[in-house]
Amino acid sequence: MEAAVAGTLDRRSFTKALGAAGAVAGFGFGHAPFALAQARAKVVIIGGGIGGATVANYLRKATPKVEITIIEPLARITTCAGSNLFMGGVRTIEDLTHDFTALRNRGIQVLRDTAQAIDTAKKTVKLESGVSISYDKLVVSPGIDFKSIEGYDDAASEQMPHAWRGGKQMLLLKRQIEDMEDGGAIVLGVPSGHYRCPPAPYERACMIALHLKRLKPKSKVILLDAKTQFAKEALFKQAFATYYPNLIELNQSAKTDDLAIVRADAKSRTVTTKSGQTFKGAVVSIIPPQKAGAIAVTSGLADGDWCPVDANTFEAKKAKDVFILGDSAMADPMPKSGFAANSQAKLVAESIAVDLVKATRYPPRLRNTCWSLLARADTVKMGAAYGVKDGKIVQINSFASEAKEPVMTRAKNTSEYLTWYANMMRDSFGKTA
Ligand SMILES: Cc1cc2nc3c(=O)[nH]c(=O)nc-3n(C[C@H](O)[C@H](O)[C@H](O)COP(=O)(O)OP(=O)(O)OC[C@H]3O[C@@H](n4cnc5c(N)ncnc54)[C@H](O)[C@@H]3O)c2cc1C
Repeated sequence: MEAAVAGTLDRRSFTKALGAAGAVAGFGFGHAPFALAQARAKVVIIGGGIGGATVANYLRKATPKVEITIIEPLARITTCAGSNLFMGGVRTIEDLTHDFTALRNRGIQVLRDTAQAIDTAKKTVKLESGVSISYDKLVVSPGIDFKSIEGYDDAASEQMPHAWRGGKQMLLLKRQIEDMEDGGAIVLGVPSGHYRCPPAPYERACMIALHLKRLKPKSKVILLDAKTQFAKEALFKQAFATYYPNLIELNQSAKTDDLAIVRADAKSRTVTTKSGQTFKGAVVSIIPPQKAGAIAVTSGLADGDWCPVDANTFEAKKAKDVFILGDSAMADPMPKSGFAANSQAKLVAESIAVDLVKATRYPPRLRNTCWSLLARADTVKMGAAYGVKDGKIVQINSFASEAKEPVMTRAKNTSEYLTWYANMMRDSFGKTA
């Protein structure tokens, strides 16, 4: 069913309607004209995290009459974005937790359920509760899933938390660090390949070390990195040396995956690397290698680990009327981040609205910025703007913090980071305050 058109909203009005949220969040969305879709087209969104929630919020602004349903098993979302600040004691878990009240108040239906299978031919989604729902347009934003490591299953992750998904895992890791005696080693395994938030493991090391410096100064974070180089490397290395000289030990692979964890033993809190080295910690946190959320893979939307998309619309290359965004999408050179998911979500909302009312399509604009807190009031950042050329996402410009910067610049970055998070959550979950 396609939506019938009965009324129009021109480009200027639409941009104005969206302006408040976009401007507050520091990135714009509206540059396409929209007509108001009056028929009850059905848009189903799998995943109510940053990507899925933003699509719902922006699609509602664009097409008030479209029926929007989010399928999400969690009643409240605790974001991974900001979770390192929680580790460092800069933010509480409540600061990072958001519900769907504001989206519901805008007539968006949120089903507390899990999508089990997508039938792209019949355009239906089967839910864990047994219900099957139909869609005209489907949005898939299920985040990431983990690739397997010998000995590391769900039970083992309770002993050796990855804390790479929000909520319970974050609390587990923080509690283990708090319970650890001074002098203990915290082993932190970092994968190679694409994973969510490339600089986050190193920010996490800084934030754990910030905590240790104050309360357990004889302890140490041991980073085992499967990569040979990493995001903001020079800036992080400078921070490790300046702020945490005896608190962070960085072990980098000479060859990719030398230090990848291939085996874990939860009982003894021991891990073995591909190169055959063994590390034991008082606390062990393993960030496993990653792939697209399971529902995207089992529904045949992935090609290898991630889901290919049309760069202009984020429509899945493997299925019509299905849009994939956020961490599950193959969107190189964009990194997998909340900022990127939020930016892509606006393009998806726009693509769907334009499709439903057959309006003109405009070239996409996408953005990302990643801030990393190194120590109190010292934040570095890097970011880029993206467009599409010859069917591929391309970087148009970029920026990055430099090694030698005034203290005030880093302090300003810190307040920018905290403000951005608050604004992005309003922008994604539709909150007005
Ligand atoms: C430690 C850490 C720090 C980070 N810091 C930052 C940062 O500072 N800035 C930043 O921009 N990004 C940051 N990120 C990255 C950011 O959290 C992710 O990139 C972002 O959440 C991706 O959004 P998403 O919508 O793709 O996935 P998510 O936000 O994970 O949402 C996916 C949702 O889908 C749901 N779901 C999964 N499967 C199903 C199913 N079958 N049916 C229904 N629902 C399903 C899940 O429950 C989840 O709520 C960080 C990540 C980590 C791990």
